[in-house]
Amino acid sequence: MAKRQKRCVISDAQSILKTYNINAKIDEAHSTVILDGAIFVDAKTLARHVVSLMRTANNTRRYEEWRDLPLAGRVLRSTSNIGLVGSFAWLKQAKLSSTAVRNVLAAQEGCLLTKTHPAHTKHSADLSCRACRKSKETIAHIISNCPTWLPTLYVDRHDSAARNIYYKLCQKYGLMPPHYTQQVLSVQENDTIKLYWNQPVQTKKIIRHNKPDIILFDKIKKTALVIEFAISWFTGIERQIDIKTNRYCVNGNYDQDLNVPYPNGDNLLRELQAAGWDASFFPIVIGATGEVLFGLSGKIKEHLGISSEAADECIERMQQSAALGTSRIIKNHLSKKAR
Ligand SMILES: [Zn+2]
Repeated sequence: MAKRQKRCVISDAQSILKTYNINAKIDEAHSTVILDGAIFVDAKTLARHVVSLMRTANNTRRYEEWRDLPLAGRVLRSTSNIGLVGSFAWLKQAKLSSTAVRNVLAAQEGCLLTKTHPAHTKHSADLSCRACRKSKETIAHIISNCPTWLPTLYVDRHDSAARNIYYKLCQKYGLMPPHYTQQVLSVQENDTIKLYWNQPVQTKKIIRHNKPDIILFDKIKKTALVIEFAISWFTGIERQIDIKTNRYCVNGNYDQDLNVPYPNGDNLLRELQAAGWDASFFPIVIGATGEVLFGLSGKIKEHLGISSEAADECIERMQQSAALGTSRIIKNHLSKKAR
């Protein structure tokens, strides 16, 4: 029937294969099918191979459609080093409520009803932030730059995400990790290590930035690992890492915080080295909607000395904390009346 150009199972299958650009040749003499240079004798193996090709094609098509959307595809088109598979690990685990997921994805895809949203600008020329009135009310401003939330909700989100790193260190060195309802102790210590949380370091020279999020002193190896954590809008992750590195490894007293690179000066890392510690610095920055840079898992594994699985789990927990915090900020912000 196919030869007579009538519709049949074979012609239908061939037209589907054509839409997926799969070129299968039927060798009638040997009752085999040649596909991708391989000869298939068994129908089951062939079917599995065709289905996997179709799945890959579907995934690629969906990815391209998503990427080409002007707003929703911003993260995918980002020129920075964002690792896409890693950035959505929190979503894949599906441990957050549907409300939190909806808020966070809406922020990432640019569809929150802020004052700069076209639906609002149609009726009003006032684009200023409803909370601080100092900047335009963009999504990036609400979830990572608004001074109204800086001392409260941003700090809570930052700390709850950074606690996951602290927890892993406690686990590794046999310290009692704090329950999430308890405050983290500023200093914890045992025979081998001393762990600082938000604790200023006494230095000989005066250093303004002397209070990183976490410091792990290994008393036996004489090493000090300084960890700084931040949550940023996805386009600012690399810049945050740059600023923090300058602050702790180049000049701890420079007052123009955003003006990188800093001129050389006294800094915490050098002071720790002068005090006899083999000091290193490890900045960890997560996107406010869960994004991570390529290679973060490997760096956590290396610096913290934990397994790849533990590093991945730690990232996923940090993403969850960041996403929950972001959802909370969005709820608080949008519940204020836009004047
Ligand atoms: Zn604001």
